[in-house]
Amino acid sequence: MGKKVLVVEDEPTLVETLEYNLTRQGYDVCTAADGLAALEVARRERPDLIVLDIMLPGLDGFEVCRILRREMSVPILMLTARADEVDKVVGLEVGADDYLTKPFSMRELLARVKVLRQGEPLRLKPKEHDLLVFLARNRGLVLSRDLILERVWGWDFGGGSRTVDVHVRWLREKIEPDPACPTRIVTVRGVGYRFEG
Ligand code: CA
Repeated sequence: MGKKVLVVEDEPTLVETLEYNLTRQGYDVCTAADGLAALEVARRERPDLIVLDIMLPGLDGFEVCRILRREMSVPILMLTARADEVDKVVGLEVGADDYLTKPFSMRELLARVKVLRQGEPLRLKPKEHDLLVFLARNRGLVLSRDLILERVWGWDFGGGSRTVDVHVRWLREKIEPDPACPTRIVTVRGVGYRFEG
């Protein structure tokens, strides 16, 4: 039996395309066209992965994600309509595992689905999560270790800036395509780090 993927999307043509392509890859596909239906189908079908659009009638994708996170540990791949960092940051906060910005290629989507299905979903420890949210909110800016330490750990944190380096290394292992050559969290020599997204 194939792994089950729930597609939550209200654009019929996109649902059709996703269903067709995922089925061809051997997945069992179920669908929901709005937020409430998504909750119902997820609870009934217990999918192995959810592809979740943000802009939905009724409950939006953030709400759906927030609610499902409390009930099940299924990997969630969110579809964002805009290349908007805010969407991604809020998505991270509500517990999404990965993101894809529309329009996306089917090849890209299938690759992400495969990664989320095979491996461990992106499970961040609390401080890794806080660090990633802080970096993403300040995308493109050079952030010193001291600033990161103060904002993420608090000014009264007893540890040194080495803590930042260690957490950056752990984050890179989880989010960089090649952790040895980081392209998302870039080192700025002698200063700190810059998040490229
Ligand atoms: Ca939509």
